[in-house]
Amino acid sequence: MTTMSTAAQTPLMQQYREIKGRHQNAILFFRMGEFYEMFYDDAETASRVLGLTLTSRNNGGAADVPLAGVPVKAAGDYVRRLVQQGFRVAICEQTEDPRLAKGVVRREVIETVTPGVALADDLLDGTRNNFICAVLVDDERETPSAGAAAGGAGRVGVAAADVSTGEVRFIETNVADLDPLMARLAPREILVPAASRARLPSSRSDALVTERESWEFDAPLAVEDLARQYGVLSLEGFGLGPSDAAVVGAAGALFRYLRELQPAGLPQMARPIVERPGGAMPLDEMTRRNLELVESLRGGGTEGTLLSVLDRTGTPMGARLLRQWILAPLTNRVAIEARLDGVSKFVAEPIAREAMRDAVDGVRDVERLAAKAAAHRSTPRELRALGDSLAALPAVASALRRVAASGRLAEMSSAWDEASELAGRLCSALVERPPLAIGEDAVIAAGVDAELDALRELRDGGRDAIAKIQADERARTGIPSLKVGFNKVFGYYIEVTKSNLHLVPPDFQRRQTITSGERFVTPALKEHEERVLSAAERIESRERELFDGLRAEAGSEIARLQQIARRVAELDVLATLADVAAREGYVRPAIVDGFELEITAGRHPVVERMMPRDKFIPNDLRLVEDARVIILTGPNMAGKSTVLRQIGLIVLMAQAGSFVPASAARIGVVDRIFTRVGASDNLVRGQSTFMVEMSETSAILHTATARSLVLLDEIGRGTATYDGVSIAWAVTEHLHNGICCKTVFATHYHELTQLADELDALRNFNVAVREAGDQILFLHRLEPGGADRSYGIEVGRLAGLPAEVIQRARRVLALLEGEQLVRGLDALASPRQPATPTDQLGLFAAAPDPVVEQLAQVDVNTLTPLEALSLLAKLAAEAKRR
Ligand code: ADP
Ligand code: MG
Repeated sequence: MTTMSTAAQTPLMQQYREIKGRHQNAILFFRMGEFYEMFYDDAETASRVLGLTLTSRNNGGAADVPLAGVPVKAAGDYVRRLVQQGFRVAICEQTEDPRLAKGVVRREVIETVTPGVALADDLLDGTRNNFICAVLVDDERETPSAGAAAGGAGRVGVAAADVSTGEVRFIETNVADLDPLMARLAPREILVPAASRARLPSSRSDALVTERESWEFDAPLAVEDLARQYGVLSLEGFGLGPSDAAVVGAAGALFRYLRELQPAGLPQMARPIVERPGGAMPLDEMTRRNLELVESLRGGGTEGTLLSVLDRTGTPMGARLLRQWILAPLTNRVAIEARLDGVSKFVAEPIAREAMRDAVDGVRDVERLAAKAAAHRSTPRELRALGDSLAALPAVASALRRVAASGRLAEMSSAWDEASELAGRLCSALVERPPLAIGEDAVIAAGVDAELDALRELRDGGRDAIAKIQADERARTGIPSLKVGFNKVFGYYIEVTKSNLHLVPPDFQRRQTITSGERFVTPALKEHEERVLSAAERIESRERELFDGLRAEAGSEIARLQQIARRVAELDVLATLADVAAREGYVRPAIVDGFELEITAGRHPVVERMMPRDKFIPNDLRLVEDARVIILTGPNMAGKSTVLRQIGLIVLMAQAGSFVPASAARIGVVDRIFTRVGASDNLVRGQSTFMVEMSETSAILHTATARSLVLLDEIGRGTATYDGVSIAWAVTEHLHNGICCKTVFATHYHELTQLADELDALRNFNVAVREAGDQILFLHRLEPGGADRSYGIEVGRLAGLPAEVIQRARRVLALLEGEQLVRGLDALASPRQPATPTDQLGLFAAAPDPVVEQLAQVDVNTLTPLEALSLLAKLAAEAKRR
């Protein structure tokens, strides 16, 4: 690398430093010939992350400059690895021909790749969106204008974009719902105004946080910017007004950032979808994870999730939409019914359903293919895939017509558009199986362009031209056996046999002697040869020109193609939900505006699939205003957690627009679903603490409304029994009396069943078990009434604890469970009952207090007054002796 020689390096390193100064938070890939070089800290980071050898260059007598490089050819893979680890990579190219450069070659950053803004396929997962979000909490603004502050503090504006699909969402929310929103969008990168990082939701620790200057979030500035971006005069057409400063400010900052990353021009983005509070149900991170909606608790894959049961979609955009529906169930009855109507149609028409599923199978990721075309990034193969996908739309339309009598499906059918002209152009202009890149193999089909056809004809030997030259020369020389041929070394030649050599005219130049004769060239033949050779080059540039034109044509239709993609996605999801409903025996839930939640023979959609068919025991559940809280007791492994989650999943599925695993369901729309799992049962966080459990519980008590569904599993378990019972008790009272929401509380603390005496809308249920001889049979059936005990000791016995231990445990239990529950514990803990100093467990192992033990045996109802008096005297005397 001669450019690094002492003489040349100073200006070069100056250029480097100047460019790096403008891209400080990115790893700078600095193009030098066939390598991208990284220097200083970038080199050290890259060598650590990518395992590159770190070298150093002597920087003109000064300290060594650490250096690491990757070959340009392999750069894609290195960029991918860095970005996947959460780094930004700025690609700096040589922007002039090094041979023509005077002094240091001009260089410019042409693109910055970040986790949130990636277009390369290997950085994307087809089944999920790759969002980047800008988040602006209104009250942290420096109120640049009086109007901007209107709307009040606590409002949060979120702008989200998926550059790979062109999808844009402007979301108005509030501080409390920000966490759930982020959990739903799962952005890879979040933009925030400088110094507001601390306000970000804690659960998004896996996203790259990018701080931007706070003026970039300025709403008035953003209004102009967005209007220009979308080519509109005002944002009112998007439904955005003066009170939307937070959303608009966030959007402005987002687009500014995106343009900065793509200085050559941002791919066209779709019209924003504006979301207001109340449209979608905010699902907080813990609920999303506990219900295992899209990510399993163990391992984080999709296995064992609701998504894995429902996702039989045929297209990537369908898969992404289904995921969005699951993560953002609706809260508006009419909107829910509209989806359910669509699913019902496809359930009722199996032929249309199959036709639809077959048809969408032929449609590839139109959304991303279109975005790539708009970004001038599609390969010939991708552009053809877009054409083929569009060509598959008539089949989708005809499947749609079978079910499009009314409602949303009719709407889609009448607005149907399949961009058939574009489809026709792409499919006829491109060869059937184009190569990955323009070059050797044809991209543009024959018969499309006369110039290209002529060039190809020429390249392929210009058979006619050759035949003509051959005929002309035969006539001129009178040598009938004269032949024009071609070989790789000499190019085109005229071959004359030995016997005819005397007829060769003077303008023939000898090139080669062969056994049968001689080979010559002529100026006319040379000229032809040049045309043939240059034809190859001209073919490539002509193909590129035509291809770029086609791609630009497709790219300019992006808005339309995004519409099309969205419609296909929706049809795919509706038909898929119908397919799952038919296969799994789901029913359409009745959605009502009332409070009630009634599930008949409900099943857990995931657990039932892990068992042989019909082995899962269905359960009924009814929560109405005057029976709104259920305490669910039963031993370990009875099925409490399963029934609890199944309630949450059924409600969520219904509000997402899906049929549900039950024989009937009546669902009063809920505004939120909360699921919490007690610390020791909580598999979600390895290092889960009681503190986490309590702060989550507290968040529920602060956010839930009477329209919410609260599902608590073993809350209070993460601390000592009596703390736990007390907290669980008070929490239940608060939910029952204060919030009045639908609540199911699964607990193995059967003490909580006593709450029913106090709270009139509370019901006890237990998951039944039968003792059969030495065995406990888990019936997995919900029955009215509380469990009488925890069965922990039975389980211990089944597990093989020694008989003496079991017996002793029974005695201790009897003691603890007597009327003396609390006093008994006090007594055990009091100084008059000193613990064996060496062994805390001695507390329980010590002989029980005989007075307490006798009291525990007393049945007050059968004592006569005289017996009572004499027993009291006896016990008092005994107590005094001690
Ligand atoms: P708990 O929370 O009461 O300890 P779980 O809900 O974790 O119990 O259930 C334990 C196991 O019992 C589950 O893994 C499942 O295999 C089985 N199970 C639960 N409910 C049912 C059911 N309704 N039908 C059949 N099997 C069930
Ligand atoms: Mg459980």
